Amino acid sequence: MAEIIDGKAFAERLRAKIKRHTGELFAKAKVIPGLAVVLVGEDPASQVYVRNKGKQAKEVGFNSFEHKLSLDTSEQELLDLLDQLNQDKNVHGILVQLPLPQHISEQKVIDRINPEKDVDGFHISNVGKLATGLEGFVPCTPLGCSMLLKDYLGDLSGLNAVVVGRSNIVGKPMAALLLKESCTVTIAHSRTKDLPNVCRAADILVAAVGRPQMIQGDWIKPGATVIDVGINRIEAEEGKSRLVGDVDFVSAQSVAGAITPVPGGVGPMTIACLLYNTLVAAHRINGMEFVD
Ligand code: NDP
Repeated sequence: MAEIIDGKAFAERLRAKIKRHTGELFAKAKVIPGLAVVLVGEDPASQVYVRNKGKQAKEVGFNSFEHKLSLDTSEQELLDLLDQLNQDKNVHGILVQLPLPQHISEQKVIDRINPEKDVDGFHISNVGKLATGLEGFVPCTPLGCSMLLKDYLGDLSGLNAVVVGRSNIVGKPMAALLLKESCTVTIAHSRTKDLPNVCRAADILVAAVGRPQMIQGDWIKPGATVIDVGINRIEAEEGKSRLVGDVDFVSAQSVAGAITPVPGGVGPMTIACLLYNTLVAAHRINGMEFVD
């Protein structure tokens, strides 16, 4: 039976560490990390994410600034707000909750965020830094996956890693991080031929597809480490619903060496890594090196 990689417990430990560093930063430099989260519109799922981000930021001792804008906010109004947040000395991290309403260009908005405050790691400057191996900000979900993998496996060098999914927020940065750790990396996607066989070559298999329980146990190499990024809500008994990953957990568990559950695996790591990036930003903006 596969060992369960407990992302919830790891995220709790990471938040405790961030809280400690936050206290030390204040004692040393009188700086309180500040995270600004911007939400446009009233999408219920986005509202929950924004609320959780604000709550967890306060719990680790950060200042949390929530900007809730109405659905009819113009692109220019949003860009003006970002200019203001870029200038604000109390704000070290800026996150614009995606997706944005159709009349606002996500690319323009991401481009406007000061890369030094881009704690989501989506600005082209941070994407370029990750691709070329420079220190920047790494998107939170793949950063969380990488932390879990390094914690569980230690040295990743030489391992075969397969990432299923090539999105800009998960698949591509995940592959870049694994390459940085000297894995041999394959990126699979919807056009990949014979996906089960590609997956079977993986010592590390990362599923970021958005298709409930697609990856089956017999696609997994015995003993492999499986990171399931997927969060899919499916119908369960009696009209209820439940969350499942992109991996069929039951069949995978009997083959894999270790696996992240859904929920309780990668999910809790995402906000913890957002806080981590904000703490790093608060150090860098104040000319201090963050020593983990
Ligand atoms: P996207 O929809 O942006 O990307 C999905 C990727 O999967 C695409 O590259 C697509 O290929 C590929 N794909 C789709 N169908 C298949 C298939 N049948 N075979 C092989 N590849 C396929 O999703 P995201 O990357 O944003 O998210 C992926 C999953 O991770 C979702 O379940 C999402 O909810 C979850 N997620 C979880 C987070 C967390 O905090 N834990 C954060 C972000 C996402 P192609 O490019 O060819 O279309």
